[in-house]
Order: sequence, then structure tokens, then C-alpha cells
Amino acid sequence: MPLSQPWLGDLEREYVQDALASGWISGTGPYVERLESSIAERIGRTHVIAVSSGTTALELALAALGIGRGDEVIVPALTFAAPAAAVLTVGATPVLCDVSKVDWTIDPAAAHACLGPRTRAVIAVDTLGHPCDFEALAALGVPVIEDAAQAHGAMLGRQPAGSHGVLSVFSFHANKAITSGEGGCVATDDPDLAARVRLVANHGMTAAAPYVHTVAGRNARMTNLTAALGAAQVHRWTELTAGRARAHERYTALTGELGFPTRPVRSGVKASCWLHTVVIGQERRDRMVSAGREAGVDVRAIWPALPSLALYRSHTPRPCPVAEAVSRSCVWVPTWSHITDRDIDHVVDVVLRPAAGNAVQRPSSASTDAT
Ligand SMILES: *Cc1c(COP(=O)(O)O)cnc(C)c1O
Repeated sequence: MPLSQPWLGDLEREYVQDALASGWISGTGPYVERLESSIAERIGRTHVIAVSSGTTALELALAALGIGRGDEVIVPALTFAAPAAAVLTVGATPVLCDVSKVDWTIDPAAAHACLGPRTRAVIAVDTLGHPCDFEALAALGVPVIEDAAQAHGAMLGRQPAGSHGVLSVFSFHANKAITSGEGGCVATDDPDLAARVRLVANHGMTAAAPYVHTVAGRNARMTNLTAALGAAQVHRWTELTAGRARAHERYTALTGELGFPTRPVRSGVKASCWLHTVVIGQERRDRMVSAGREAGVDVRAIWPALPSLALYRSHTPRPCPVAEAVSRSCVWVPTWSHITDRDIDHVVDVVLRPAAGNAVQRPSSASTDAT
């Protein structure tokens, strides 16, 4: 059983076939525009620019803010590494900062302690679908970039994930709740920043003045073919995100009975489910991952805290004990939008129940003729 899989149906097939038949297969076309406008509408932002990946979206957001050599950007220590890597790619320096015990997103107080004269931005990752404390982050006085790559459908009060910060990004990688295969987007309400993102993403030229390159741009466009797939998925946004939420609920109930909690959620937040996370403890985790391997179920230890990687150690001015502790104690279990109750029960029975130990095993699975 895989860790994740996309749910592709008739609508995806129809849109992709239509894009193919139209001959529009590269970086402009009606599906690109459709994807951009439907996301803008959904998250309530004025400008959305579809690009080739979530990582590229982060690089473009940084480039639009003019961030480069000599600049520092604060990044949480508990995240998929793309935000930290994007900072390095634009020539700036990531400064890793601890996450909060309360919700596992970037800790505003820890971020404050990382501020310096060269700090130019904070990348606030909605870790595991949980929107950051954007009100507290705004008080830092530097631009915030929201990384909502795992947070399709999450809400902070009445504000959707992806609507925060001066710029925000989504990823549409195949393991995300909404996918275009590979892909991502940048969103903002600032027309100048939107124009800069488009400029850099499109060879440093505008459609109005072809071949007049005003900056050394790149080609980061999303193709119309990719956007066709993405547009179908965005059309099914509610269905796809609700499917993951349902999986999250069932897992939470079943693993709760075994004494394993899931991730904490701050009040006023509706977290989305990307991959369901189980807090299991370091010792049991190793047992569980090997039980999963034997049973053919892909359960995975979550990311290492970035400061534990040689590449990022020197970018960590202060200890990050919360990120380290969370990283060591959690696993992901198979999660997708159309996962069945039977699949979930199977994962719980073959991987989580044994990890819980004999005390809470079902009588049926405790009986064995191996003596
Ligand atoms: C997946 C992810 C990315 C990168 O997105 P890609 O589309 O895979 O490049 C960036 N940030 C976070 C938090 C992610 O989970």
C-alpha cells in the first residue's frame, strides 16, 4: 500500500484530452488561465500565477521581493526542505528557527529571536496543513511568505490557507491534496509583486513586449497540459479535501483508542489533512516502520528536523528542541482522498496495533500458534 496516491477521474481525463486536442501544450493556454482564476476565487486573492512546482513558486516569491545575496530569510526547522533550499537557490541565507509546541508551526517568539539587520522575510510554512499564527508573525515587521503547500482547504478563522502573507504559494505535486502532477502557484494581492513573479517566470519579458528582457528571467511556466489536470482537480477541491479530512477523522478515532494522538491544533483553526500524522514515540516508531515494511504498507518517519542535516546545521543559530522532538516521534500513514475505511482499518491493524504492544491488542491478533 503506497503512502499516497492521486485520485484521477473522468473530469481530469476530459480536460487533458481537450488540452491535447487543442494543440496548446506549453506554457500558455486557456487551462492555465482557468487554473489561476479558479484558485484566486477559492482563496480570495487577486493574482495567482501558475508555475512549474511549489519549490519554484517559493524561489519566485523570494525573487519578487528582491531577496538575494547578503539577505537572510527565517525558515522553520520542521518542514519539507524546499523553503530552506529555495532561499539558498536565490543566493540568500536561511536562518532556521524552532516551531511552537502548540501547533508545530513556526514559533513567532523564536522567529523574533532570529531577527537581525539582514532579515528580509519569513517563510511561514502551514506545517502538515495547519495555518501559522499570521497575526503574531505580522508583528515581526518583515514580509511574510506563506507556504501553503500542504494546506489546501485549511482555515484560520474565516481566512483560507493561501490568503496570508504578502505572497503565498501552493504545490500541486502528486502527493498533495490537489495535484497537477508537478506544479505550483504564487498568489498575492499586490499587482507589482504579481507582475514581478510573471516577469521572472517568463524569461524576464512581458507578453506586451516580447524579446525585451528587463531581467535575467527563467522559464518557470506551467504547461497548459499540466494546468488541464490541475484545473480538473481544483474543480473537485471540496470533494478531494473532504476525502482526506474523513480519512483523518477515522485514523484519529482508531489510533486514539490505542493511545496515539495526532498533531495538535490551535483553537480557531481548521487544519487540513495532507498525510495523516501519528505521534507514536521514537522507540515504537522504528518497530512500526519495520512492521510496515514487512506488511507492504508504506508508513514513514516524518522529515528529520532540518538542523540535524549537515547542510543546514550552520544555518541554525539557536537550538530547535520542539522541531527535533516532533520529528523524532511521528510517522505518516497511508493517506489519500479516496482511501477506503477497509484500507484504514488494515493499516491500523497490521502496523499501529502491534506497535501499541500487547496490552491493547485485539484477542484475535494476540492468538497465535507460534510457540
Ligand atoms: C511539497 C512542498 C513543497 C514543494 O513543492 P513541489 O511542488 O514538490 O516543488 C514546498 N513546501 C512544502 C511545505 C511542501 O510540502
